[in-house]
Amino acid sequence: MFADRAKIIIRSGKGGDGHVSFRRELYVPNGGPDGGDGGRGGDIIFEIDEGLNTLADYRHKRKFKAQDGEEGGKRRCHGKSGEDLILKVPAGTIIKEAQTQKVIADMSGENTRQVILKGGRGGAGNQHFATSTMQVPKYAQPGQPAQELEVLLELKVIADVGLVGFPNVGKSTLLSRVTNARPKIANYHFTTLNPNLGVVDLEGGDGFVMADIPGLIEGASQGVGLGHEFLRHIERTKVMIHMVDAASTEGRDPVADIYAINRELEAYNEEIARRPQVIAANKIDALVLEEGGEDPVERLRKEFEPQGIPVYAVSAVSGQGLRELLYGVKERLDQLDPMPILFEPEYFPGEELFQENLPYTVTRSLEDEHVFVVEGPRIEKMLGYTNLDSEKGFVFFQKFLKDTGILKELEEAGIQEGDTVRMYGLAFDYFR
Ligand code: GDP
Ligand code: MG
Repeated sequence: MFADRAKIIIRSGKGGDGHVSFRRELYVPNGGPDGGDGGRGGDIIFEIDEGLNTLADYRHKRKFKAQDGEEGGKRRCHGKSGEDLILKVPAGTIIKEAQTQKVIADMSGENTRQVILKGGRGGAGNQHFATSTMQVPKYAQPGQPAQELEVLLELKVIADVGLVGFPNVGKSTLLSRVTNARPKIANYHFTTLNPNLGVVDLEGGDGFVMADIPGLIEGASQGVGLGHEFLRHIERTKVMIHMVDAASTEGRDPVADIYAINRELEAYNEEIARRPQVIAANKIDALVLEEGGEDPVERLRKEFEPQGIPVYAVSAVSGQGLRELLYGVKERLDQLDPMPILFEPEYFPGEELFQENLPYTVTRSLEDEHVFVVEGPRIEKMLGYTNLDSEKGFVFFQKFLKDTGILKELEEAGIQEGDTVRMYGLAFDYFR
């Protein structure tokens, strides 16, 4: 199976902790603080690799972690920074947050490299905390925690033109005939299991990229069969070539086929269904007209040209009509915005750390009525970023309890002078 989707967990490096140490010199009894800073944690970076065209690298391995920063050392030694982890993906890969499916980044076009998760900052060593009143600071700042995120990688190929149609109508044959691509061609269904891309070169002008979107069958938009897997590759194509077997070599009705495929497209995404289309009535070399029978190409024209969809009679095998088809497609493309269709970011990792609405709870302990428990993601994150051993950290902590309304909630819950507040292994007494 073609790997154009993968779900992985990425994690940046934790920042190294600051170090606590004091200068020790002969004849100097109380040396000043000399604990060094921790190193920063490595970032998770995504990078386009033009040599890749699948996400197969992400099928077997699930967890990807950048290196942690090292702790600071004695004698102001700075901890080593953690190495970044660079994840290579094919051009056209969309990175989404796995739960919400919101787009984090579209690795296409100019966006060839992007930091997705920042490594944690290293903590400051105790050398920074000496003040006139505190000359032997026994604390250092912890490194910032790592960030972890489950992401969905989806490859949506970047092609100007998408080739759609039922199996065996001749899509791969056309692609191999008019582009440099060499897809598999065979007389059985689903020979093409991955979207093939090819560049169509045109004399006297720019060419375009064409993708063969395979295996579209009825019910694809509901996920029946393989079709759905491939529909997402259509999302960036600007013009669609509908290919039908005009000679009905397998007994298919070309007019009904176009309607069936358009129904699928509409069910999948109405906006895509409204994009410009042309019809390639293929296999006209094999067309045998019965006495008095209606020419299928004429039927297609009567039906679809009034709807603004031009019909080209072609033979992908003999090459008949292909020039007209390609120039017709090119003409349509030239009327459109030349920029590739890109996906805008909707999700920014890390922003939730500073959002006001992460949940937390304030509860009175069942075992001891003088103990109150405050917990939840909000508290965890805050504690991860705060060094309570430092004066500044403690001031921030108090301000945080007040500003967020946690203090008020404790009072409403009936907290009394001298009661205990517990937060993840941390306990302190409550005084007004
Ligand atoms: P796809 O499933 O749409 O990619 O179809 P293929 O390109 O694999 O072609 C399916 C079969 O139709 C193959 O046996 C081709 O040789 C045949 N075929 C494709 N185009 C033509 C054509 O223009 N004329 C004739 N006679 N056969 C064709
Ligand atoms: Mg094919």
